[in-house]
Amino acid sequence: MRVGNLSGRLTLFTEEGAVDAEKASGGRFGADPQAVYEVWDDFAVWAADADLTGAVPFDPADLGAPTPAPAQVFAIGLNYAEHAAESKVDVPDRFPPVFTKFRTALSGPVTTVALPAGGTTDWEVELVVVVGRRAERVSAEDAWSHVAGLTVGQDLSERTGQLSGPAPQFSFAKSHPGFAPLGPWVVTPDEFTDPDDLELGCSVDGETVQHGRTSDLLFGVPALIEGLSRVTPLLPGDIVFTGTPSGVGMGRDPQRFLRPGEVLTSHVTGIGELRQTFVSAG
Ligand code: ZN
Repeated sequence: MRVGNLSGRLTLFTEEGAVDAEKASGGRFGADPQAVYEVWDDFAVWAADADLTGAVPFDPADLGAPTPAPAQVFAIGLNYAEHAAESKVDVPDRFPPVFTKFRTALSGPVTTVALPAGGTTDWEVELVVVVGRRAERVSAEDAWSHVAGLTVGQDLSERTGQLSGPAPQFSFAKSHPGFAPLGPWVVTPDEFTDPDDLELGCSVDGETVQHGRTSDLLFGVPALIEGLSRVTPLLPGDIVFTGTPSGVGMGRDPQRFLRPGEVLTSHVTGIGELRQTFVSAG
């Protein structure tokens, strides 16, 4: 199943187009794309047998963040060995760094993003997990049953602010407006042959800059849910940015950052694509 947010309304997506969930369910499920995760099990059962023949074409520019207002946004740092190496830090041993992207940074999949002053905004394509069931002290073995689905995310990062000063400012410098595009929709785990081995990558103006597989995550989705939920209960509709593979601009020689006019395209195979166009903040 593919479910998301079209013009602010909970929507199912098929090969033919979009189906409004409130209308197709005769009002059983509301239009709020965030609230569905509170009743996720019921929704999934209904959607499996729902009549989706009334799908209509849509404009991808009308897609919003599939989870527009999660109670919590978790983000994971240094979760691929080659990215830790290009960042010139050790790989995490017990658990990777955890930070947040503040909720106002979330956006839909096709956007224009204003670059902050300083010229050091960088890309980080990531697999994003959407929680479908409250998870508190969940074991890795039981973790996938708490996942509603997977989506694509960009952890856009303003590096100067992130790394200056006496302590790193991961959450703050990664939360400028539009710095957390998500989408194009949430795909349920049953749609993948192996949800622990997905191909992902991104390109700038058509040139591939990141390419990896989630099977290379140091802490995969089950280990992340186990570790996060040991400390912090995960709530339905929460999201987890799982970390980025190597190839970020900061780790290049010479370093390279996003410039006005450039287009960043990010994908996870089997889910879809994000497209960000950058402009000067002016
Ligand atoms: Zn990241």
